[in-house]
Amino acid sequence: MPQETIEQEQLEKARETLRRLFGFDSFRGRQADVVSRVLDGQSALAVMPTGAGKSLTYQLPAAMLDGTCVVISPLIALMHDQLRSARANGIRAATLTSADADWRETMDAYRAGELDLLYVAPERASQPQFLDFLTASPIVLFAIDEAHCVSEWGHDFRPDYRALRPLLDAFADVPRLALTATADQRTRADILQQLGIPEEGLVLAGFDRPNIRYSIRHRDNPVRQITQIMAENPGPGIVYAPTRKKVEDLAAKLAAASGKPVLPYHAGLDPDVRARNQAAFVASEEMVIVATIAFGMGIDKPDVRFVAHAGIPKSIEAYYQETGRAGRDGDPARAEMMWGAGDFAQARQRLAELPQARQGEERTRLDALAGLVETAGCRRAILLRHFGEDPPRECGNCDNCLSPPGVTDATTTARKLLSAVYRTGQSFGFGHIQKVLTGVEDERVRQRGHDRLSVFGIVEGEEMRVLQPLSRALQARGSLIATEHGGLALGGDAASILKGDAEVMIVLPPKRERGRKRRDATPNPVGDPLFDALRELRRDLAQEGKVPPYVICHDATLREMARFKPSSLAEMSNLSGIGTKKLEAYGDAFLAVIRQH
Ligand code: ADP
Ligand code: ZN
Repeated sequence: MPQETIEQEQLEKARETLRRLFGFDSFRGRQADVVSRVLDGQSALAVMPTGAGKSLTYQLPAAMLDGTCVVISPLIALMHDQLRSARANGIRAATLTSADADWRETMDAYRAGELDLLYVAPERASQPQFLDFLTASPIVLFAIDEAHCVSEWGHDFRPDYRALRPLLDAFADVPRLALTATADQRTRADILQQLGIPEEGLVLAGFDRPNIRYSIRHRDNPVRQITQIMAENPGPGIVYAPTRKKVEDLAAKLAAASGKPVLPYHAGLDPDVRARNQAAFVASEEMVIVATIAFGMGIDKPDVRFVAHAGIPKSIEAYYQETGRAGRDGDPARAEMMWGAGDFAQARQRLAELPQARQGEERTRLDALAGLVETAGCRRAILLRHFGEDPPRECGNCDNCLSPPGVTDATTTARKLLSAVYRTGQSFGFGHIQKVLTGVEDERVRQRGHDRLSVFGIVEGEEMRVLQPLSRALQARGSLIATEHGGLALGGDAASILKGDAEVMIVLPPKRERGRKRRDATPNPVGDPLFDALRELRRDLAQEGKVPPYVICHDATLREMARFKPSSLAEMSNLSGIGTKKLEAYGDAFLAVIRQH
C-alpha cells in the first residue's frame, strides 16, 4: 500500500477512536498533524496555545497503540489532574510519584502491559533504575509535557529536563512528543536540539486565544474593580497579586465585598492549607483564588472564567501564560490587568540591582510590556506580533477595539513635568510634583522653596487633568523612574523629551460609564430549569466520583443536552464530549433528568 493510503487509514482509525473515547467529532487546529506523526512513529514538537488540546495528541495514540506512553510532567498536581480526565474517558492511566501510595500496583500494571499512560516526574524519569524498569514492557511513545522547561531560554528552566536525554536515547526507536504552550523561536530550536527531535517535527499552532477578551486599565480601587469583574463573570477566577501580603489582604477584602468564596494561595502558606485551597478551587464552580505567580502551572482547570492581574506581570510572555489559564474550555473568558504607575517605576528600579549583563534584556522585556499597557491599539495584535505572528489590526474582542480610547499629544506638559522633577532635585513623589506644577502652596512646598521655582504653578485648567495619566505613561516608558525612597527621577529618554527631540503621546481612557452593570453574555442559558437541573446533577455526580464537575463534562456538553434533549443513549452519544465511558457511567442519569423536564 502506498504510504499516503496507510496514513489516511491511520487517521481514519484515529478519528474513530476520537469519537468513541472522547466523544469529539473532529480534531481541532493542528491536532491531526501531531497525531499522525506520532502514529507514524515520528517525533514531534507541538507548540500550541493553552486550551488547544495538547494532551489529546498523546492520549489518543496511547490508547490506540499496543504499549505504554510514558508522560514526563513537571508537577504532581498536573499529573493527577490529567489522570482523572484520562480515566474518566476510559483510558488506562497511572502516576508514579512520591505522593502515590499505590506505586506497587502501578509498577505491576505496567509490567503486565495494562497501562496506556504512565505519568512520571523528570527527576524520576532520569534515574537509571527507571530506565531498567521500563524495559519490562513495550513503550510506544515518550510525551514530554511543558517541554520549554528543557531550555534555558524558556521562562521556567528545570535542570532535570536536561537529564532526560539518556533515557530517550536508550529507546531510540520510540517517538518523542514534546509539548508546550509558550516557546519563542530560540526556545523552540533549543527544545528540538536538547530532545533530539528533527526540525521538520515542529508543529506550530497560532498563539491566538480568540475566546479571551483582554482589558488593561489603571488600578484605582482594586477591591471594587475586581468585585465588579467577579459580578460580571460568574464562575471560577484567578487573581494574581504581587506579594504574599497583598494576596492575603486582597483575598480577605474580596471575600467580604463579594460574599463569594475567595481563598488565598502563596508559597508562604502552610503546605496543607495551600493544597487544600488549590483542591477547593479546582473542584469549585464559583470560587476565586487570589495568588502569587506560584499558582497556576499545575492547574488545568478548564472552566476558569477570568484571570485578573492586580499589578503588572513580569513580561509579555508571563502575561500570556498567566492569562492563558482562562477559558481553556473555549467559552468566553476575560483577562483583566490593573496597573499602577508605581509598578513600572519599581520594576525599573529593580533593574539596577541586576547584574549588568542581564539589565538590557530585562529592560527590553519591560519596554515591551509597557508598549502593551500603553497602546491605544489592539491588545491582541500586540501580543500576537510579539510572538512573531502577523495578526489583523483589530480583533474586536479587547478593550481598545471595543471602545477606542483617546490619544493626545502631551509633549508640552511632559516637558513641564520632567523639568519640575529635575528642579526639585529628583527625590519627590508625584503628589509633591503635582502640587508644585499646579501652584499649591503647602508647608513642604514652602519649606523647600519650591514655590519660588520657575515651574511653580505653570500647569493650569484642562492641562491639570493630564498630569496623572501622563506621569503614569512616563513611568511606563521609563522616562521617569523610582528612587530608592519612593521619589521620581529622570530616566530613559527624559533628556530627549526635555530637549524637544522626542514626543509624548498618551492614551486617555474612555470616560467611565459609571453604575452600568454589564454582565457578560455567558453562552449558558440563564433561567433554563433543564440546564440548571443538569448542572445540579453534574455536581452530584462529581461529588460521588470525587472529581471536579468539569471531569464529568463541560458546560458546552450540558448546553447541548439542554438544547437537543436526547431521549436515548444513542442520541446522547452524538453529543460532543460524551465518549463510550461517559455514556456508560452517566448517560442514564442525564437522560432521567431530561425526561423530567
Ligand atoms: P492544553 O493542554 O493544550 O491546554 P487540554 O488538553 O487541556 O489543552 O484541552 C483543552 C480542552 O479542549 C479539554 O477540555 C479537551 O477536552 C478539549 N478538546 C481537546 N481536543 C478537542 C477536540 N478535538 N474537540 C473538542 N474539544 C477538544
Ligand atoms: Zn483588539
